[in-house]
Amino acid sequence: MEMDNDVQSNSKGGFHCKLCDVHVPNRASLDDHLKGRKHKKLSSVRATRQAQEENSLFISGFARQTSQLQLADYFQQFGPVNEVIMDKEKGVYAIVEFSEKEGLQTALSNPHHILEGQKLRVKPREKKEFKYIPKKKQDPRSVQLSLEHLTQGLCQAASVNEQMLKVVESFQLSESEKKVRSLLVELLQEVFTEFFPECCILPFGSSVNTFDIHSCDLDLLLDLENTKTFQARNKGSSEQAGEGQSEDARSEDSILSDIDLSTASPAEVLELVAAVLRKCVPGVHKVQVLGTARLPVVKFSHRELGLQGDITINNKLAVRNTRFLQLCSGLDARLRPLVYSIRYWAKQKQLAGNPFGGGPLLNNYALTLLVIFFLQNQDPPILLSVNQLKELACEEEECVIEGWDCTFPSQPIAVPPSKNTEDLCALLAGFFSFYAQFDFSGSVISLREGKSLPITGFLSKEAEEGEGTDEQTGDSRPKSVKLGPINVLDPFELCHNVAGNLNERTQKAFRRECEESAKYCRSLQYQRKSAKGKVWGLVRLFASHSAGAQGSGREAERELSICIPFKAARLPDTVCSQLHSAGGLFREPWFEKVCCAVVAVLKDVLKCSVAPSDGSEVRDRHEEVTCGAVKDTATSAHMDATAGDVTLTDCIGPASKNGQRVQETNNNFKPEICTSSPTKEYNPEDTAHTGVKRLSSTGNGSQESPASKKQRLDSGSKHPTAQWHCLLWHKVWAGRRKVRRDLLKSLQGDSMPEGGSVELETQVTERIAQEHPGGEKLLEFTLEAEVLGVTENTRTVLKLTPGEDHLGLFQDFFHFLESFLPKMTEKLLEKLG
Ligand code: ATP
Ligand code: MG
Repeated sequence: MEMDNDVQSNSKGGFHCKLCDVHVPNRASLDDHLKGRKHKKLSSVRATRQAQEENSLFISGFARQTSQLQLADYFQQFGPVNEVIMDKEKGVYAIVEFSEKEGLQTALSNPHHILEGQKLRVKPREKKEFKYIPKKKQDPRSVQLSLEHLTQGLCQAASVNEQMLKVVESFQLSESEKKVRSLLVELLQEVFTEFFPECCILPFGSSVNTFDIHSCDLDLLLDLENTKTFQARNKGSSEQAGEGQSEDARSEDSILSDIDLSTASPAEVLELVAAVLRKCVPGVHKVQVLGTARLPVVKFSHRELGLQGDITINNKLAVRNTRFLQLCSGLDARLRPLVYSIRYWAKQKQLAGNPFGGGPLLNNYALTLLVIFFLQNQDPPILLSVNQLKELACEEEECVIEGWDCTFPSQPIAVPPSKNTEDLCALLAGFFSFYAQFDFSGSVISLREGKSLPITGFLSKEAEEGEGTDEQTGDSRPKSVKLGPINVLDPFELCHNVAGNLNERTQKAFRRECEESAKYCRSLQYQRKSAKGKVWGLVRLFASHSAGAQGSGREAERELSICIPFKAARLPDTVCSQLHSAGGLFREPWFEKVCCAVVAVLKDVLKCSVAPSDGSEVRDRHEEVTCGAVKDTATSAHMDATAGDVTLTDCIGPASKNGQRVQETNNNFKPEICTSSPTKEYNPEDTAHTGVKRLSSTGNGSQESPASKKQRLDSGSKHPTAQWHCLLWHKVWAGRRKVRRDLLKSLQGDSMPEGGSVELETQVTERIAQEHPGGEKLLEFTLEAEVLGVTENTRTVLKLTPGEDHLGLFQDFFHFLESFLPKMTEKLLEKLG
């Protein structure tokens, strides 16, 4: 049977489907898989590909300029042609696919094929083995890769200051990238001048504000002021001269005769701009007019340059504030590395950088203003307020746009340098502390004044002034400050809150991330390069956003989850055969074994107190058993009476006094918890030991028909779950490596446990506990386990929810547990018998 060719069995009774690259533990699961959607879909794709291959010819020898149509026309004489695919780049071969096999056979039986005087070489298309390549999720990976790449460079730097300079180096546009952008601007200037005489294309935003990054867009202002004058002038002269128009006026006939720039709405003008872009600029595509945006804009992409661009009109304030940012960069060299580092930090923490500029995240402009404001508020200040800068400008530099005073010196030389000598490392840490403590709800950030202003002053203004559309310019921007959870006044357009799009949640997340980062910046790990090659400095700061920072968001949930994948190959034969006989229900006994092992790692290896979260929570360490690998009788008795007691011994059997496992039958293994037979069904009440629960809808398992049980698991909606409440008594992660090393040195010969073994790790914790006896609980947390995945991909997901954590230790503990728990659980599962 064709299917059988896809399936390989292994020595443990499991199977591998080569087509889908899926491993399953038994025949029942294999049957499920073969009937499943993925397998069916891939089988059908393969069948279609094979049929196409069988009906296709490989053609070469034709002239370079030969088209697909010519080839299709030629081969039509042998039978209906479905498709012709050409190797466009090289133009040296083509695949001709017939609708039916007869066409192919007739063509092959013809000894000579001549097209346009060229002798064609015709042969059957080569058959390739069909290979399934899973699709990869694009975005997170590319972020991950760039961080990985960056990490290497950063870890090699000598100091945080150097790391920050490296961030700039890694992200900023290269000279050639800048050149390409300026060439495109020149080209656009040329094209638009044809249609809008005397217009001016002015770049602004990150391409030119000194905070450029490789992927940044190209923001352009199409200034039509002179074109308007030109049009008015020509209108006047043509009215006077009747039909006799000037050359120039005729050259713009095609567009300017269609529109009166003095009365047209921005959206109408932008439609024309879009038409010019579409028709007259080579390489431009995906042109789109956003006529109703706060500032109407035409968006476009350039195919060859891989660039995205925005063209606006009526946006001179943005050109001016771009000049202001350029000036600030010129005033103090510390601004650029700070802005680059903080922009990347904010992007990693999902606080900034949403691609469309809207939505509830900080945009790059707002973030840059926050950095400038922070520098204005240093002692002594690193940057002057906009009002102070204005005082240093000369008469020619006076500038008013749309009624807003935009005066500041054009050159940094006009401004005395700052006396502040703080280094980048300290300033970055200072930025986080500054905003971690900032009174966002009571103040408005004013770069104009260089200080925060009480929000109360803005409440009254808001009531007085309303919103409206300027009939002259069509500008519908509000004329009063739109107050929100974060208020950052634009330095020039003083009624504009550049962070007005943020919501309460983003503000809270921003503050929390600042708090977390400020805390991290106080550690040595931030300040000093690791001698052991560990990540340090900015690298940890750039890790994706910290757990809990987004409140109840899905991201946060994922951050606090630990995954234990189902790995049949690592399980002992006896367990494999148990799972094998459980058929399609193999996940349940496997899950219970995992739960059993997880609890054993927490209790015995890490000396946590663990109880199922069913009301019998552990409140006191003395209530809980502090059990080693060997369970004594008294302890046993206590355990039997205490819900949730599963020990290492339960999982892997007793150990000898020297820490080595005794090879014997596992009498202590509670059969109702961790073993499973095909006939034994789990009772929903059987939660006492592992905390494993069935959903009440399951009812009594023994009365459930195999079909409904199968459906229950396959539906994916009702999985067995377990939940425990845990207390941690010792800093089990701190100095663990050293303790392990010392222990291995002190234990010699037979008594020495195997490196990385459960026994060794248990002793490491015991040593830590002896050295730091403590007495108080350090933190508490809840652990929820759930089995996920259908046939493929089966895994136990452990979700941690922190409880009391006065000392702020949970993060460190979680990072440790993330790698420790799966490793140790796997070790215990390997030892099951
Ligand atoms: P990037 O494109 O890398 O995200 P950017 O600074 O170019 O950074 P854009 O959103 O493209 O950011 O905005 C372009 C320019 O428009 C900004 O540099 C700024 O001059 C102006 N700008 C953007 N947002 C605002 C705003 N909320 N208020 C005032 N001006 C803004
Ligand atoms: Mg931009």
